[in-house]
Amino acid sequence: MKEKLEKMRTLCDTLNRFAYEYYVLDNPSVEDIVYDKLYDELLKLESETGERFADSPTRRVGGEPISAFKKHEHIRRLYSLDKVVTMDALESFDAKVRKITSPIYTVEYKFDGLTICLTYKNGLFERATTRGNGTEGEDVTAQVLTIKSFPLAIDFKGTVEVQGEAIIRLSVLEEYNKTAEEQLKNARNAVAGAIRNLDPKITEKRKPEILFYNVNYISDDSLKSQTEIFDFLRKNGFKVFDYLRICKTLDEVKNAVNEIEKERKNLDVLTDGAVIKVDDFKTRDELGYTDKFPRWATAYKFEAEETLTEIKDVIWQVGRTGKLTPLGIVTPVDLGGATVKKATLNNYGDILRKNVKIGSTVVIRRSNEVIPEILGATDGGKNGKTVEKPTYCPSCGSLLEEEGANLFCRNEDCKPRIVAKLANFAQKDAMNIEGFSEMTASQLLDELSVKNFSDLYKLTVEDLLKLDGFKKKKAEKMILAIENSKSVELKNFIFALGIDGVGKKTAKDFADEFKDIENLFIADEERLLQIPEVGEIIAKDVANYFRNDKNLSEIRALFELGVKPFVETNDSQGVFSGEKVVLTGSLSDFTRSQASKLIEERGGETQSSVSKSTTLVLAGDSAGSKLDKAKKLGIKIIDEEEFKRLINT
Ligand code: NAD
Repeated sequence: MKEKLEKMRTLCDTLNRFAYEYYVLDNPSVEDIVYDKLYDELLKLESETGERFADSPTRRVGGEPISAFKKHEHIRRLYSLDKVVTMDALESFDAKVRKITSPIYTVEYKFDGLTICLTYKNGLFERATTRGNGTEGEDVTAQVLTIKSFPLAIDFKGTVEVQGEAIIRLSVLEEYNKTAEEQLKNARNAVAGAIRNLDPKITEKRKPEILFYNVNYISDDSLKSQTEIFDFLRKNGFKVFDYLRICKTLDEVKNAVNEIEKERKNLDVLTDGAVIKVDDFKTRDELGYTDKFPRWATAYKFEAEETLTEIKDVIWQVGRTGKLTPLGIVTPVDLGGATVKKATLNNYGDILRKNVKIGSTVVIRRSNEVIPEILGATDGGKNGKTVEKPTYCPSCGSLLEEEGANLFCRNEDCKPRIVAKLANFAQKDAMNIEGFSEMTASQLLDELSVKNFSDLYKLTVEDLLKLDGFKKKKAEKMILAIENSKSVELKNFIFALGIDGVGKKTAKDFADEFKDIENLFIADEERLLQIPEVGEIIAKDVANYFRNDKNLSEIRALFELGVKPFVETNDSQGVFSGEKVVLTGSLSDFTRSQASKLIEERGGETQSSVSKSTTLVLAGDSAGSKLDKAKKLGIKIIDEEEFKRLINT
């Protein structure tokens, strides 16, 4: 018992320090997963011992308000939400509710931002506060007033406190980080730091928004359910995210949770779960509250996108351009249903910044890429063996060169470079040679000395039969795939060449602009710079690439062997046919890539910045300089509603 109490004391102290850094300073020193693990450990010990310290974080909501802001007492206390992470736990929650009644539930998205509570009196906005410790929050009126999308006057004339989540859209954060001196780590910290900032100019610069979901107090007691709350919010001009499922059975609740889990990946807003609430207030009153949570609601938190593991080794991989990238080999761990054995780091500086050493415990996060990324060591680099910076290429032994933050192997015959170059050439968005993998490239190099792209088009079935694992059928299939790749869209061909800095998007921009590769051969840097988003470095690399005789003769050799890039013309029937469209600001119902796809499918062409050639601008919320420029140039502008109407015609 004594040991358990001592452990509880340490956990309370550690968690309270973390909570202070998270809620008060908006500068957490550990990832949420580390906090949550320790919190769950404390909860378990509290239930085993039946003891709970007065300052236990399991009693408290959020953090104390900081004195730099004026304090404000909420008319009615604001609670946190209990959580479940499995369907079994959701069933237990439902069972407890069903002891009282057969409920109707509502299910909503759980946005991961900062709670904001707005007070209105006599129909006028009076004050904005944070949740703080639930009873008292910080007065952030000046900061919140920089947000344009909430009403300053409402139809309801009594006193009302509405609650919502301040968020920063993911696309807005991405844009912000492009030019920011100090990168903002994630949307949650970014918005908390924006609102709880003494300088409202900083709040304004980060462009937060508020999505509303609750009326915490209303003087005439007129609202009787969550559904009525949503109606009230909408009627009074508050921005409400358009999703509220009404569920009568547990199965319906589970379906809604699954739907949210699937759809959240397409949203431009950070979410971390679904919120299940009993709809009617009568049942809510009967169920009541614990010190910290309502008993009538719970958050279904989705499987962590992050987890902890240990670094066993760091190896260096040589890429297509000769750049060396460190790769962390980790103790295998389950993350989102897959076993992770490797995780990425960016470069040597990144290893130092993240305090990664051999033997460190690190947090890894699943990203859009196949391999998860390493976020940092949990001990701040105190333990473990320092990772050495390599001097020679681990593959060919050449002396490495340092350029900017990265190390490069300059040997063009270095095997991994050739293999990566060939694999890139063959991939789906490039020449699309079906069945061609890195393994194929490696075999072809080792056994048949295939180094150049053109070597591929000289291969025969007989050649391939010499390779391990290639029987007649597979060899014939590969030769056919190579043959079929000869007819290729110009944008894919340009991308396939693997020019430094030319990704799919830039390759498409070049194809759209030049229509014929011969025009690209002769374009100098000045000409290339006229293309929006092409900067000096890319322009120089591209011009140098086509100035190099070796590259040109390789391309000519490809043409002689029958490779024929073509330019696809747009669908002339589509509603955006002939339009050159720029998207700006954030859309509520589409991600940018969804909207771009819809435009392109309907014959339009999307551009990344406004220029004289732009014919249409789709402006979402918080549209900034692009919209201003479009107005100046007199370009037609449409909003999301109009866009929806057009795509449906
Ligand atoms: P929470 O964020 O898990 O859930 C409660 C909050 O959800 C509400 O206050 C509200 O703001 C929000 N919410 C979003 N959408 C909602 C909706 N539709 N309906 C109702 N509420 C909605 O709880 P919390 O107490 O604010 O924070 C706990 C979390 O904070 C933990 O999971 C932990 O990971 C993290 N934390 C991290 C550290 C750290 O050091 N990294 C420290 C403390 C807390």
